[in-house]
Amino acid sequence: MIKNETKIINQKTQKMEKYKNFINNKWIESESKETIKVDDPSNGKIIGEISCAKKNEVDLAVEAAKNSYNSRVLVDMPLLSRAKLMRKIAEETRKVSKEGGELLCYENGKNIASAIKEFNDVADMFDYYAGLTDKLEGKTIPVAKNVFDYTVLEPFGVSAHVVPWNFPLSMIGRSLSCSFATGNSTIIKTAELTPLSATIFARAIQNADVPEGLINIICGYGNEAGSYLVSHEDVNHVVFTGSVATGKKILHACADKAIPAVVELGGKSAGIVYPDADLNEVLESARSGIFSVAGQICTAMSRLVVHKSIKDELVDKLVDMSKSLKIGPGIEKDTDLTPVISENQLQKVEGYARSGIQEGADAAYGGKRLEREGYFMEPTVLNNVKQNMTVAREEIFGPVLSVLEYEDQEEAIKIANDTEYGLGAGVFTKDLKKASWTASKLESGQVYVNKWFTGNHATPFGGYKQSGYSREKGVDGLKSYLQVKNVGISLG
Ligand code: NAD
Repeated sequence: MIKNETKIINQKTQKMEKYKNFINNKWIESESKETIKVDDPSNGKIIGEISCAKKNEVDLAVEAAKNSYNSRVLVDMPLLSRAKLMRKIAEETRKVSKEGGELLCYENGKNIASAIKEFNDVADMFDYYAGLTDKLEGKTIPVAKNVFDYTVLEPFGVSAHVVPWNFPLSMIGRSLSCSFATGNSTIIKTAELTPLSATIFARAIQNADVPEGLINIICGYGNEAGSYLVSHEDVNHVVFTGSVATGKKILHACADKAIPAVVELGGKSAGIVYPDADLNEVLESARSGIFSVAGQICTAMSRLVVHKSIKDELVDKLVDMSKSLKIGPGIEKDTDLTPVISENQLQKVEGYARSGIQEGADAAYGGKRLEREGYFMEPTVLNNVKQNMTVAREEIFGPVLSVLEYEDQEEAIKIANDTEYGLGAGVFTKDLKKASWTASKLESGQVYVNKWFTGNHATPFGGYKQSGYSREKGVDGLKSYLQVKNVGISLG
């Protein structure tokens, strides 16, 4: 179905594909007839459109989730059967990973291999949590001789998940798999820039024969469908992944209803490079940490805090590596640097690079948009950045690396922690004692040692400070989707 010229044509009708909302296991068109058009960031051409969910479709999705929850179809399902169903979802997701990955590659711009991997990551997460469904145990509490007191873990009910565009499938997978494993009924609101590939995942849900209403996937604008969904009176639990600014709005909406919210927000991560570091490891981490997905990663390695004795050598190597990157559409094999998501994002990223130079940094490499079709930004290395500059303080969400200098270890830690964010941080050194000391000082939910992005579905992920306070993935992730009920029985 998907063609290389990036027009997604239905082979039967020869028309541009129109995608729909997945509600109660049916494909639902918006009553408003409004659609959202989606383009390919590598050339700006429209590749598909999706029916835009409004108040009416949000109501339908919430009603479907509520009915399925009240039917207790998932809650009362024997836990080994729930696990089996989750494994079936994983299997069906792997089957659509190539088709879905291609669509994701076109709508997001990212490299095809990493787009396909996103689908497979979703499958891995379902497999992982399938194994945990029957291991969620309560406890007994010795209150008194004639009292039998115990706890049970129960789901919240209707859980609404609002996801961003940078990892559209992975973000669905990590929250949905946990939500499903714990018995909640879920509604996902995809991002308006990348809603198409999630419909392929919805097909996998259908193929796995998931009962009606347990998983609903809709797409609408954040300030319409998104805000209405999280404020809906029948939603009991919210999961939000996105920017700090939107996250704060979501938290306010949840506070108004006194319901819990899982929030996974932005970052401004720093990697500290000690003099004994293996610079090749730093280069490999920069390649994936700031240039993959065009730097649009919440834990992007956006700052490098480098000891002054090795900074010039490292900057030269970073420039050579930047020059060697293969730039192009994600659908072309082995591209290292793909486009950013939109013209707006490109202007924002270029504006940040310009501001860095105006505030006194040097563009060791790049700094501008590329003169070609699509939304491509040059791989950019800004040298001599100071921590008070805008580029060192704000999340850029583009392929722009800021290099800062330090003289002693305490100063390196101070610079790395001097941010309102606390999502990722890293340290490069051959001395593991020093690495462990540094990890203990870094105010961050993740610390990477000698390699950026070491985690997987089993490692807890989340932020410190304004990057959020919840944890997703791993066994820890389950806690956010369950409430504890205490039962005390008087034995007379
Ligand atoms: P965003 O906050 O603009 O949007 C995220 C989602 O929220 C979208 O689906 C959008 O439609 C919706 N939304 C917008 N306004 C809303 C409102 N008022 N009410 C309800 N929903 C609303 O973020 P983005 O630009 O899509 O994503 C980039 C941000 O996400 C970056 O800051 C990045 O660091 C962060 N992010 C964090 C993680 C993490 O795990 N911590 C992962 C990926 C991305």
